[in-house]
Amino acid sequence: MCGVFGIHAPGRDVARLTYFALYALQHRGQESAGIAVANGGRITAQKDLGLVPQVFDETALQALTPGSAAIGHCRYATTGASRWPNSQPIVRHRKGRTVALGHNGNLTNTAALRAELAERGVRLETTSDTEVIAALICEHPGTLEEAVQAAMERIEGAFSAVVLDGEKVIGFRDPDGIRPLVLGDLDGSPVLASETCALDIVGATLVRELEAGQMAILSTTGVEVVQAVPARQVGGAALCIFEFIYFARPDSRMDGIGLHAARQRMGERLAAEAPIEADVVIAVPDSGTPAAQGYARASGIPFADGLVKNRYVGRTFIQPEQGLRDSGITLKFNPIRDVIEGQRVIVVDDSIVRGSTTTKLVRMLFTAGAKEIHLRISSPPIVSPCFYGIDMAATSELIAASRTVDEVAAVLGATSLAYLSLDGLQASTDHGADRFCRACLTRSYPTAIPADLVDGGRFRFETGAAAVRA
Ligand code: 5GP
Ligand code: MG
Repeated sequence: MCGVFGIHAPGRDVARLTYFALYALQHRGQESAGIAVANGGRITAQKDLGLVPQVFDETALQALTPGSAAIGHCRYATTGASRWPNSQPIVRHRKGRTVALGHNGNLTNTAALRAELAERGVRLETTSDTEVIAALICEHPGTLEEAVQAAMERIEGAFSAVVLDGEKVIGFRDPDGIRPLVLGDLDGSPVLASETCALDIVGATLVRELEAGQMAILSTTGVEVVQAVPARQVGGAALCIFEFIYFARPDSRMDGIGLHAARQRMGERLAAEAPIEADVVIAVPDSGTPAAQGYARASGIPFADGLVKNRYVGRTFIQPEQGLRDSGITLKFNPIRDVIEGQRVIVVDDSIVRGSTTTKLVRMLFTAGAKEIHLRISSPPIVSPCFYGIDMAATSELIAASRTVDEVAAVLGATSLAYLSLDGLQASTDHGADRFCRACLTRSYPTAIPADLVDGGRFRFETGAAAVRA
């Protein structure tokens, strides 16, 4: 997973605006951040491992100023390890062309394209699928638009990407529309972003979402949207349903739907599908909160804050020593004993992936005095891995992949467990199933998945030390 942003606004502080947009997209990737700026045909870039404010300070932003256009990226690695050369934007030079590229998604034919590029004598310096896209664009003899279009015809899988040359920004979205990408307007200047929350923070308004297979060309003449490759889905797109369940921010709108309200509807439906007598409804914050509110409203059981989340614990935190890890303590959550003690508690969360956090939470809540713990999950069981950019692990690590709901409940140690049905989830989105990729829930993938991907995992191109960091 990742967040991307692009802006073409001569006369504005494009680096600073990109910085703020990345701040709004930080939830989409916390491993690295980067900004590339175009000024008079030249590109300047800065990127590093870490959170957006760790990578950029005032001095860094001033070094990227002035500029007429910029792109930005924050990364959550899915192909390639979390290493500096794999951070983005990736900058590539070739025969007078320089491009910077940021990518959200995951290609499924990286191995084939890497082999083909190697045969053509094109050197790749990193292990990420993103460099393959940058290389295809850079090697192309035509205009940037032609190069992007040609690359879109070759790459497969999920990609919502932004590319910058000395002057233009082009945003493009895969023909299945798996990852989101929106077009906005900032006082007459075009901007692109993974989510609408990034438009809000820079003061831009939503113009429209890019459709599957489209590219948007941002230049001094404004913005032009072109259907670069045909959309592959009958319903127009196969947007990742996990964006609705968990990934995107609740204040974002996707496919015309406000995600906070959609998640509340998931909770309401869950209450109707899986009612239980209890004293209090609590959420696993923050991602479970809208669904817990919906569950409480529909069931009439009061909602309370039962868990406090430490919001400074990111994905990159230092691993605790083994004793602390085994103790079942989570660094992220602490229960509020006054709310929990002696109560029959309904605990609402958006999803269970490996079950590791959830197991610890259940233990922690019983330790805090809960009489019963009824887990209610506002998505169906996750049974199959994602090859399109959500870091969901191999099938063997997914707790629900080979267990019944009762067996999962027993592993987690909960009094009861229920998941939202697939139909209930679908209805909560206000769209039909033909608008979504639901492969993690149904095992049915919208694109072909090559065998090397099924077995390989994201470190398959790593050698040496990086390969063992799993
Ligand atoms: P589990 O208990 O299965 O280990 O984790 C489930 C929890 O992780 C849920 O609270 C869910 O909101 C959260 N979650 C789901 N997907 C992701 C992800 O891709 N990254 C992170 N950091 N958390 C996730
Ligand atoms: Mg959560």
